[in-house]
Amino acid sequence: MARDALLDAFPEASMQNVSLARISRWRIGGLADIVLRPRSVEELCAMRAYLLAQGLPNVVIGATSNLLFADAGLRAVALQIGNSLGKSAVKVTGTDITAGAGVWVPGLARRVMQAGLGGIEHICGIPGTFGGLVCMNGGSLRRGIGENITHVDSVDVTGALYRRDREACGFAYRRSVFQGNDEIVVSAGLALEAGEREAIRRVMLTILGNRRRKFPHHTPNCGSVFVSNPGMYADYGPPGAVIEKLGFKGRRIGDAQVSPEHANFIVNTGRARAEDVLALITGIKTAARRETGYDMEVEARYVRPDGTLVPADCAA
Ligand SMILES: Cc1cc2nc3c(=O)[nH]c(=O)nc-3n(C[C@H](O)[C@H](O)[C@H](O)COP(=O)(O)OP(=O)(O)OC[C@H]3O[C@@H](n4cnc5c(N)ncnc54)[C@H](O)[C@@H]3O)c2cc1C
Repeated sequence: MARDALLDAFPEASMQNVSLARISRWRIGGLADIVLRPRSVEELCAMRAYLLAQGLPNVVIGATSNLLFADAGLRAVALQIGNSLGKSAVKVTGTDITAGAGVWVPGLARRVMQAGLGGIEHICGIPGTFGGLVCMNGGSLRRGIGENITHVDSVDVTGALYRRDREACGFAYRRSVFQGNDEIVVSAGLALEAGEREAIRRVMLTILGNRRRKFPHHTPNCGSVFVSNPGMYADYGPPGAVIEKLGFKGRRIGDAQVSPEHANFIVNTGRARAEDVLALITGIKTAARRETGYDMEVEARYVRPDGTLVPADCAA
């Protein structure tokens, strides 16, 4: 009943029985009962207030480039923040930028470069939304977007808007308060530095070239599965090298495979199931603990059917 009323309340922004295997980056997952795609911040606030009033659990997703959906699909309502909440929403004021959460990260990097601003070149190859990047404090070359954030605007479960300055965002390596506070990022500000457009472009092209050489890009994947641990790095090297030494490179379970190109990626070679990916992750973690004594931390998040999100090694 409440679900039917939800579809009636937001008819143009809702979709039913959506195949997560079709829309997700890893091409894995069952059917999502309802996906809502808010077309403005005001509509998102109204949706959150409505979902709370109706007692409907919900989960926020972006471009799904860090998410593993359950084979059983999703009973909670998915609130997908994308294009509609980001289109043309990049504003440049001197060396400051404000961007909407739905903005595509590589597009943001390009826009920043065109404005002759430097400092976030490291994000140029990350295939996600700006909101997802802020939530994950994503970045590359051991950097995170949080370093340049000035403030973040978000919507809480009641539909109220909040502004937090950088210190209140709890940024740490691939972490932020938004991973645990049930708020949805709608936009954020960045402080950058004036630079030379051509020099910034060259840095980005080098980063993109290195990524293209190292990372698999023909088979669906979710980027690095494991986070680099400084202690383990010093003793044994980065996660990819450790996984390779453990003999997992190229290992398959069903259609999920530890990439033969880069062992910290798990690729979907056809019709992989979430349970195949989870079994590979468990196998790698167990072997790493046994051989190195380190507990490898997982970056990819598992979305349970009830909408709760956990690191993919905590899926059980
Ligand atoms: C080929 C490939 C390469 C990658 N390389 C990198 C890399 O170099 N560095 C890196 O850090 N990551 C990398 N990733 C992982 C991923 O792209 C990032 O984590 C990205 O920031 C996730 O953005 P998203 O929009 O896809 O978020 P999703 O994957 O949809 O969601 C990720 C998390 O963010 C939350 N979230 C999403 N949108 C919002 C929002 N608006 N407000 C609040 N929470 C939100 C979700 O609930 C979830 O917890 C890579 C992935 C792929 C597939």
